[in-house]
Amino acid sequence: MQTWLAPEFTKTSAGKEADAILRSCVHCGFCNAACPTYTLLGNELDSPRGRIYQIKSLLEGKAVSQQTQLHLDRCLTCRACETACPSGVPYARLVDIGRAEIDKRIPRNLPQRLTRWALRWLIPSTKRFGIILNLARTLRPLMPSALKRYIPVAKSAGIWPQPCHARRMLILSGCVQPVLEPGIDSVLARLLDQHEISAIPLHSGCCGAVSHHLSAAAQTLRHIKATIDAIWPYIETGIEAIIITASGCGAMLRDYNQILREDPEYSIKAVKVTELCRDPVQVIESLPLNKVGKGRRVAFHPPCTLLNALKLEGRVETLLKRAGFELLPVKESALCCGSAGTYSILQPKLARELRDRKLKNLQLPQPEVIATANIGCLTYLNTASEIPVVHWLSLMESG
Ligand code: SF4
Ligand code: SF4
Repeated sequence: MQTWLAPEFTKTSAGKEADAILRSCVHCGFCNAACPTYTLLGNELDSPRGRIYQIKSLLEGKAVSQQTQLHLDRCLTCRACETACPSGVPYARLVDIGRAEIDKRIPRNLPQRLTRWALRWLIPSTKRFGIILNLARTLRPLMPSALKRYIPVAKSAGIWPQPCHARRMLILSGCVQPVLEPGIDSVLARLLDQHEISAIPLHSGCCGAVSHHLSAAAQTLRHIKATIDAIWPYIETGIEAIIITASGCGAMLRDYNQILREDPEYSIKAVKVTELCRDPVQVIESLPLNKVGKGRRVAFHPPCTLLNALKLEGRVETLLKRAGFELLPVKESALCCGSAGTYSILQPKLARELRDRKLKNLQLPQPEVIATANIGCLTYLNTASEIPVVHWLSLMESG
């Protein structure tokens, strides 16, 4: 597609990058069919092709409005359009640039600014999030049942084996998972221990994904650099891999090398972190597996980050089958569940529609359990599911 970027963008790094992305799009529209918001709303302006066109107009200096901002806000950044695109257009990077730019031109109203600030203040801090969640848990018995579902009960972290093996891998805990589901990482630690690999826990805080989704560039960089600083001493002592059990955070770490590519102090370190970053399936699938499944019927929800960012389609399903589970067919398996970082809070109506559609499809084959690979999807699906939703790692031990 031809572009005529406004002079203020032709010399900036982001402007040049956006220009190259826009020129790689041939406007064929193959991506539209994969887009959850286009599927729900049927409006070209809420499709990837329509958003690309709106970002092009924005960067060419044409008039934009709150409506344009809304169409970009409605994007889940699920990246299903990237997977569907025959030209390999890196849409997610373009929408990041477009969102940052439109937020400069169209100031958000006070309620929006407060909500976004509160999310950035609360979620990345395990301590603050834990205090608020524990308070909500105390008040839970007094709440109506519809609200109770949004307050998950406290769970035990389980035993973490002492690191004593020559092979060592780091497990990053992230921000909200240690409070919501502290047992997921411990299961992985025990599985690795059985295969003579020591799991080293690292509570390095938020990976930056929350602020990144909220277009808060400076805070994102602070979180990323703090995470790299926390990991680096372990890299220097020879850890084999950095495992992140939440695929959303894994996808973020996988992008560190791109985000920091022009940073003189951190670019080389970021490349190393990205190189060592692994989803748990990439480690567990290479190990001998016990037949813990015993034919239990599982419906798997592959998070968008696992499918479209980490590109690990089908890998967890294959692993679960090897472990003796029966994997049930799920309609519209690749469709986003609506969780998408902070999307379920900022766009609740669309998110609920996606969640309910996803749960209908997951529950249709009557599984005993629903498995997924990301804390956000797990927590959000559990707010309305009739069947328990768990991380697939939890199944690998209990069967
Ligand atoms: S993003 Fe890809 S699939 Fe979508 S319109 Fe552009 S070239 Fe076609
Ligand atoms: S990232 Fe997802 S929601 Fe956004 S345009 Fe692409 S397919 Fe649609």
